[in-house]
Amino acid sequence: MPEPGRLAERLARRIGAEGPISVEAYMAEANAHYYATRDPLGAAGDFVTAPEVSQMFGELAGLWLADLWSRAGRPANARFVELGPGRGTLAADALRARGAAGLQPPVHLVETSPVLREAQAKRVADAEWHDRIEDLPNDAPLLVIANEFFDALPVRQFVHKSGSWHERMVSFENDRFVLQAGTPARLPVPGSEGDILETSPAAEAAARTIGARLAAQGGAAAIIDYGHGRSGPGDTLQAVKGHAFADPWSEPGERDLTAHVDFTALAGAAAAAGARVFGPIPQGIWLTALGIDRRASALAQTAPSRTGEIEAARHRLTAPDQMGKLFKVLALTAPHWPLPAAF
Ligand code: SAH
Repeated sequence: MPEPGRLAERLARRIGAEGPISVEAYMAEANAHYYATRDPLGAAGDFVTAPEVSQMFGELAGLWLADLWSRAGRPANARFVELGPGRGTLAADALRARGAAGLQPPVHLVETSPVLREAQAKRVADAEWHDRIEDLPNDAPLLVIANEFFDALPVRQFVHKSGSWHERMVSFENDRFVLQAGTPARLPVPGSEGDILETSPAAEAAARTIGARLAAQGGAAAIIDYGHGRSGPGDTLQAVKGHAFADPWSEPGERDLTAHVDFTALAGAAAAAGARVFGPIPQGIWLTALGIDRRASALAQTAPSRTGEIEAARHRLTAPDQMGKLFKVLALTAPHWPLPAAF
């Protein structure tokens, strides 16, 4: 495993040779290294995601897909797809819940990290892995889940300076990574001095590819992530290490870098590719409509000693001041598929 700091040295050398690199290139390199070298999830790691909070999250996501599949006429060749499956917890919970609903599809996981592929293999038997969304099978309906995948994809940033937008670049000076304005960029958006604008070509391309596949092959997708419902200016790039915010511009590859997901941009890209788009709606509303209260009671009945823990998890996933409101769900379907539940 590479030693900590090695990516920082490599990036510093690259900047020395090539000049400043874009924020997008910095974030892409940092996250590729970060995920390739560790399992960042859980109490001992850097952050906790919804499927790691409670099995109810993956179960309800799986049942949401099973319900749509069932109302679409139960196509026998449908595939389950997860983008960025982390430890494989959501996939395992979803498959268990869906098996009970009569759906046991082949599993396709899009994951670049060898460490996380290994963790996923322990929880999901017989999965097939892919490096890229483009490599998914093209001959069957796809039932797609992506939880906290899009927020890890690199963003471009632009800064408004002396009357125009400039791509924001990362330089290396006096042993530190520093931000500066690069070459002017023509953007069809007004701005004032100092404004920051973010776009994510990688996230939009992923939404476009999924949208096109659903339109051509049938199926549906739930994109669950944190972010704003409407596009707006602002720097949302953040780093997390050991459950605390950290400086994104130091120790690249040792901290988790994420940015708010621009759901309007993702919805636009998927719709332009031919998919039908629903939402985004808040995660708390989605889970409540899918029956999380009933599921929590049922779990508590079978394990009375865990009642407090189950209620705490339900609250964390749904309460507006917890994960219920900042996290949102965007649904995509094939145009000829039925309407998704809860939207
Ligand atoms: N969905 C999981 C993990 C979220 S962390 C959960 O909710 O717990 C982000 C996940 O996306 C990790 O599995 C990471 O390795 C993967 N990932 C990040 N960038 C990726 C990329 N460009 N291609 C494929 N997988 C990526």
